[in-house]
Amino acid sequence: MSTPTTRALSGKALAGVIRQRAKDEARELENEGAHPSLAVVIATDDESTHWYVRSIERAAEAAGIGCRVIDLGHDATEQVLANVLRDLSAEPSVHGIILQTPLPGGVRTDALVGLIAPEKDIDGANPLSLGRLAVGQPAFAPATARAVVEILDHYDVPVAGRSVAVVGRSAVVGKPLALLLLERDAAITVCHSRSGPLERHTRPADIVVVAAGRTGLVNGSHISPDTVVVDVGTNVLPDGSLVGDVDGASVNGIAAALSPVPGGVGSVTTALLLLHTVEAARQQVPLLENA
Ligand code: NAP
Repeated sequence: MSTPTTRALSGKALAGVIRQRAKDEARELENEGAHPSLAVVIATDDESTHWYVRSIERAAEAAGIGCRVIDLGHDATEQVLANVLRDLSAEPSVHGIILQTPLPGGVRTDALVGLIAPEKDIDGANPLSLGRLAVGQPAFAPATARAVVEILDHYDVPVAGRSVAVVGRSAVVGKPLALLLLERDAAITVCHSRSGPLERHTRPADIVVVAAGRTGLVNGSHISPDTVVVDVGTNVLPDGSLVGDVDGASVNGIAAALSPVPGGVGSVTTALLLLHTVEAARQQVPLLENA
């Protein structure tokens, strides 16, 4: 008897489709006299964060979206960061703002993200965005949370009426993802470090999304045959390679499908930041014209 195959839910083709949508929309806005533009605020020496920001810059440039990187250095104070975020929130030529983590020690991230104007909060960092999502009002979801839903849609994985276990309850992935899936009529269980044995929640689930930042947290013993597994985790191993939270080798042959790391959720996330920027610009341009 042959081993059942696990379908790879690659994010690469989908990311290409989303980047093209962002590019087309940016061109349309340009034809109307508006230049969609994104600002990324960074305050760290961490090389992998700089690499990530450069990848956003390149992707924005390729899509015809302006991208201003404001590097405040690893010793930026909360006051300086706050002033920059206030200025960007009030600046009409900037339509989207990302406050890139990590931030310098002692800086209160929670206080700073609240300064990003909700209409420019293209990575859903402001608690107001999460609150709006919670009550079904229009808001930008964190791009990673939306990326999971887009991947499931792209591969025609139905969510309505199905059970989903979300592993991780952070404000940037687990919680907003649970809200997005709830909006799509799924039955959600959110697991965390104190929710008890993981398999108790993940085995009965039709779909398991893992966003914990723990290498190998989920393996074949945690899932049932035909489960769809989406790996959000990004963990850098000592040799510099990137792995997710799911032990792919042990899940393969059991799961119906698995989104890989790298090449899954991450590529879609970056593309969605561009799409959110043009969506934000589209919403802001008429407001500005009438101002
Ligand atoms: P986070 O803020 O550290 O949250 C991790 C969550 O996982 C917490 O809710 C924690 O539970 C839970 N957790 C930790 N150990 C667990 C365990 N043994 N069993 C069950 N739950 C456990 O991390 P995050 O910002 O949400 O990110 C999660 C992962 O996604 C990271 O690897 C991150 O790098 C990755 N990520 C990827 C992208 C992308 O674009 N690809 C974007 C964002 C994040 P408690 O709440 O109880 O502590």
